[in-house]
Amino acid sequence: MAAYDYDLFVIGGGSGGVRAGRVAASLGKRVAIAEEYRFGGTCVIRGCVPKKLFVYASQYAEHFEDAAGYGWQVGESTFDWKKLIAAKDKEITRLEGLYRKGLENNGAEILETRAELVDAHTIRLTKTGKTVTAEKIVIATGGAPNPHVALPGHELCISSNEAFHLPELPRSILIAGGGYIAVEFANIFHGLGVDTTLIYRGKEILSRFDHDMRQGLHKAMVEKGIRIILTDVIEDVTRAPAGGLVAKTMCGETIAVDTVMLALGRDPNTDGLGLEAAGVEVNERGAIVVDKYSRTSVPHIYALGDVTDRVQLTPVAIHEAMCFIETVYKDNPTAPDHELIPTAVFSQPEIGTVGLSEEEAAKRYPELEIYRAEFRPMKATLSGRAEKMIMKLVVDAASRKVVGAHVLGHDAGEMAQLLGISLKAGVTKDDFDRTMAVHPTAAEEFVTMYNPSYCVRNGERI
Ligand SMILES: Cc1cc2nc3c(=O)[nH]c(=O)nc-3n(C[C@H](O)[C@H](O)[C@H](O)COP(=O)(O)OP(=O)(O)OC[C@H]3O[C@@H](n4cnc5c(N)ncnc54)[C@H](O)[C@@H]3O)c2cc1C
Repeated sequence: MAAYDYDLFVIGGGSGGVRAGRVAASLGKRVAIAEEYRFGGTCVIRGCVPKKLFVYASQYAEHFEDAAGYGWQVGESTFDWKKLIAAKDKEITRLEGLYRKGLENNGAEILETRAELVDAHTIRLTKTGKTVTAEKIVIATGGAPNPHVALPGHELCISSNEAFHLPELPRSILIAGGGYIAVEFANIFHGLGVDTTLIYRGKEILSRFDHDMRQGLHKAMVEKGIRIILTDVIEDVTRAPAGGLVAKTMCGETIAVDTVMLALGRDPNTDGLGLEAAGVEVNERGAIVVDKYSRTSVPHIYALGDVTDRVQLTPVAIHEAMCFIETVYKDNPTAPDHELIPTAVFSQPEIGTVGLSEEEAAKRYPELEIYRAEFRPMKATLSGRAEKMIMKLVVDAASRKVVGAHVLGHDAGEMAQLLGISLKAGVTKDDFDRTMAVHPTAAEEFVTMYNPSYCVRNGERI
């Protein structure tokens, strides 16, 4: 008789948990996976996927305008928020079904309940109070929006979770935050016709991105009509007597809006999880501390994805899950590789990026060559839209290695995916030069920037 009820118990049915559970079950392990909300997790239910659907929805107003330059006459258009929400919900339900099917088809047991640790091998299923035991445990409980409880009136504000289910489209919105979620939602709401203001305490939005990307996007957003307030924060939010909300800022502004959204980072979901009882260590942010193999302070308990606060992205959680499988069930210890992760900001225009920003690269390499192109994309010629694309390669002058590649403009995310492969393979600038262009595309600019735009020596532009 087996010593434990399961070989593996997974807590959390999101990107990382489902992958770990499904693949372990496919290897013949006795797996159970508990999810307290909906399978698919943040990414599928209230993150990447519904967000991207909203991004598409928000782009149509510009598409209709742009069509005129190409000879089309588009009649009067209207937008129905409720219809979008219903269509999005239908698609999310379909995807959730696929996640569940993937688990079931491989023989994993699905448990629709919150799960908490009782000790290092025992898990309590809170729906029934039943306890079960497992030889190994994976904690993949993800994260949740930081509610900013220190802000008076925070309970009147929404987070990205509620943004996907607002009963009505607000006429105006104030979004607090300067990270990618704040920026993406500012563009979504603006595109849907909402009067949009973004407020951020820092000097520039998207502080970890290359300065050309940050500044180029900032400029484009302002030109579209999004108001961006920097070096200021909301100090309190109250209800306005006539309806809506009033936000007062540290610098003395009073902003009246229908909705205030807080996008101020995400906290790991570890509260009440029983980590102390199991002996699992967390850091000062409440994130689970893991070694390079995603193993916690308890050797048979692993943690992956956002709950470990390493890199909060879906493909990273999935990769960490696959490394867990290699390490634990295939006798092939594999540490997740967090270097050169390509990523995108689905703003309008989009940012696609991989590798180091110019600023970061200047700290690591004595001499850089910067190749930079700024141009009007071909589509904008006939549409008449005033928009610019920016492309940039950051090259270590000594080795000729491309250490950063950045794009601002249409399909930047798609380009970042392919640039990611090249940089991961250790591509040099000479490899870019030897590559034939695909003409006419915007991406061809990456292989036609023959001369450096400028150099950076010991951090100084020359
Ligand atoms: C608005 C938004 C947009 C995003 N856009 C992108 C993007 O474009 N690209 C990208 O790569 N990433 C994006 N992300 C990030 C991405 O969603 C996360 O990095 C990813 O979902 C992390 O996967 P995970 O498995 O660690 O956790 P999650 O996907 O968060 O899954 C954790 C699951 O655990 C469940 N859970 C928590 N506690 C318990 C418990 N005690 N018992 C049972 N179940 C529990 C939760 O309900 C949840 O379903 C976005 C996130 C947000 C919020």
